[in-house]
Amino acid sequence: MKQEIPYKIYLEENEMPRQWYNVRADMKKKPAPILNPATLKPITVEELSAIFCEELAKQELDDTTPYFEIPEEIRSFYRMYRPSPLTRAYCLEEKLQTPAHIYYKFEGNNTSGSHKLNSAIAQAYYAKNQGLKGVTTETGAGQWGTALSMACAYLDLDCQVYMVKCSYEQKPFRREVMRTYGAHVTPSPSINTEVGRKINAEFPGTSGSLGCAISEAVEAAVSQKGYRYVLGSVLSQVLLHQSIIGLETKAALDKYGIKADMIIGCAGGGSNLGGLISPFAGQMLRGEANYDIIAVEPASCPSLTRGVYAYDFCDTGKVCPLAKMYTLGSGFIPSANHAGGLRYHGMSSVVSELYDQGLLTARSVEQTKVFEAAQLFAKVEGILPAPESSHAIKAAIDEALKCKETGEEKNIVFGLTGTGYFDMVAYQKFNDGVMQDYIPTDEDLKTAISKLPKVD
Ligand SMILES: *Cc1c(COP(=O)(O)O)cnc(C)c1O
Repeated sequence: MKQEIPYKIYLEENEMPRQWYNVRADMKKKPAPILNPATLKPITVEELSAIFCEELAKQELDDTTPYFEIPEEIRSFYRMYRPSPLTRAYCLEEKLQTPAHIYYKFEGNNTSGSHKLNSAIAQAYYAKNQGLKGVTTETGAGQWGTALSMACAYLDLDCQVYMVKCSYEQKPFRREVMRTYGAHVTPSPSINTEVGRKINAEFPGTSGSLGCAISEAVEAAVSQKGYRYVLGSVLSQVLLHQSIIGLETKAALDKYGIKADMIIGCAGGGSNLGGLISPFAGQMLRGEANYDIIAVEPASCPSLTRGVYAYDFCDTGKVCPLAKMYTLGSGFIPSANHAGGLRYHGMSSVVSELYDQGLLTARSVEQTKVFEAAQLFAKVEGILPAPESSHAIKAAIDEALKCKETGEEKNIVFGLTGTGYFDMVAYQKFNDGVMQDYIPTDEDLKTAISKLPKVD
């Protein structure tokens, strides 16, 4: 007998996954190794451990262990806001008059407002476990910094955040959430670090950049005893932690015997998408099932759809390891798109390799279309979505409308990564009708791509 599917599919606490899943273990062809930026040789756990916590360095380089136990302390933190609901978008389906069934996994149900907390707590936990005093990081728009400050507060760990100066000044609200959780937030470039002082001397009055903030955060980590650097996306360890999203999604679908046809996620550095699709991609890699997996990126920063697959620096400051990934070049500065979390020049090496093997497809969307989708979604489903998440909404709506044409009853699942309450300036631009779409020309892309490091 067919069971009625509830509006929200909740998992019980004891159904929450006990392990993270490492999709690399099921890949026959593994992602290319990350390289030491100084020697251009595959980096070792010892070398990585100078910057990252030891346990995280091990996770980063492990492409054979399929499951990692989630420590009990992390599970108890997860219980504050997980399992997150998988919602059947009945109202959206009704509005679109589509025969498709649409489901979304909502990750905005915590104060930091996004999925980033899933990895922040894991990284903070391993730092604490190693006996460290604190961690350093950078933040652009502020989502990652907010998540990390919450995690560090919970574990009583010092949290130093280098926030790009223009965001620090123009976006005071996330900054104040971080400070409320006890983080030390420094506008970057600062006078705390050598690299910051150098940049300030060279470019007086500069409003900073993410690349510069990364360089400061790394220097702060290696120059203070008992500190390490942490990063909120791109790295394979972050995808591992974010697999909790996909594992819960799969458990919720399985609970009602639902087989997804299509899985959609927005892609910045690739962590939420990689986490959402991991268990499903694993089934595909083992030959057990098939899915249409779609990565959605902004037309202004199209690393999968218009980038090249090559080794590149993960940061503009060229201090982090090199990764082979789809990239627009670490020198590529995307236009002022309002989905700050998707303005990254590269893509996780795991997602890149899966894409290269044809396990997923990618498309890019323009931001005015994204905000139209966001507004429609907010009206019918009641959640004001983050601009980043709205890229996935846009693709899900497009696919549901295709089903209306063909009459197909597809099950479409997408990741709703967060809420947009701190993005109201972007919504204001949209509401005032002054939001613009910027698509880089081939010429724009060529410049940064031509400066990729020569590795092979
Ligand atoms: C950071 C962020 C993203 C993009 O990051 P990924 O690593 O690609 O997942 C997407 N949505 C929200 C709400 C974010 O904060």
